[in-house]
Amino acid sequence: MRLIDLSQPVYDGSPNCPAHPPVRSEIIKDHPQTGWRVELLTIASHTGSHVDAPLHKIAGGKSLDDIPLESWCGQAYIADVRGIAAGSHITAEMLKARLPQSLVDQIVLLCTGWGDKRAKTEEWLRNSPCLSEDGAAYLVEQKIRGVGIDHYSIGGCTDPTNERVHTILLGAGVWVVEELRFPPEAFALPQPVRYMGLPVNFKGFTGAFCRPVLVVE
Ligand SMILES: [Zn+2]
Repeated sequence: MRLIDLSQPVYDGSPNCPAHPPVRSEIIKDHPQTGWRVELLTIASHTGSHVDAPLHKIAGGKSLDDIPLESWCGQAYIADVRGIAAGSHITAEMLKARLPQSLVDQIVLLCTGWGDKRAKTEEWLRNSPCLSEDGAAYLVEQKIRGVGIDHYSIGGCTDPTNERVHTILLGAGVWVVEELRFPPEAFALPQPVRYMGLPVNFKGFTGAFCRPVLVVE
């Protein structure tokens, strides 16, 4: 078995959603003093590669506890929209052109190329491409299981689109995985591919870090 890592690294000062506190990691114990090394992290639960459960946007919605682990593993299709302009939207039409007709219970991974632009630039922080409202509605109509994107927000950096896209997806029980990165070998695989991204077991949380991978037999 081979695993293709779709995750983004987390480290002190790593780029993150500007609506959240900056990422902090400090060594609070070290070998010379205590014989151990331990880091203290100060980060929002939606940092680095992470999942969104419905409760993130929908009051009373499902938390991580309510989603079976099996849900985070399944067949996925990569919708490759690399070359898309900053700030523009991935429409239903673009999805239809890149994905098979039937997507029932499938996972859709949107590749904008922004995973490779991850840096504290205006472009990455505030002007990413995103899924459109009609694109989100199309994926819900198709009864997909989950959807991912290679940026910190599937709905982009501005409201109302960001709020609406999250509401459409999470309101329909479609989970979201954000901050993916697609290495070149991800595009060489026959589709669908096997995807897995198990969130950390944070009790009752709206989201959690995960390690998203493609599984190659
Ligand atoms: Zn999130």
